[in-house]
Amino acid sequence: MFSIKKEDEVMILSGKYKGIKSKVIGVLHKKYSVLLKNINLRKKRNKNNKNSIQENESPIYLSKVILICKKCNKTVRPKFNIENGKKIRVCRHCNQIIL
Ligand SMILES: [Zn+2]
Repeated sequence: MFSIKKEDEVMILSGKYKGIKSKVIGVLHKKYSVLLKNINLRKKRNKNNKNSIQENESPIYLSKVILICKKCNKTVRPKFNIENGKKIRVCRHCNQIIL
């Protein structure tokens, strides 16, 4: 199970975006990657309008990002607890549930 999901705040651990915080806008399970808002933009020409260039986010490997706990604002690899048959993420620092 992925420890990171859409709408999470994450920090990038390596590469040219190292240390930058961003928001997860998509998770690509098959590629083991995430899309981060305004990170790793690739220019793409608009097929219908040759003068217009679109910028789209390209995936970044999950291993390059770490979750930021919204409660204590620290980076964390969350642990998983089972509650009512559901897996929930728990911060190792403040022990709060990460939704
Ligand atoms: Zn925390």
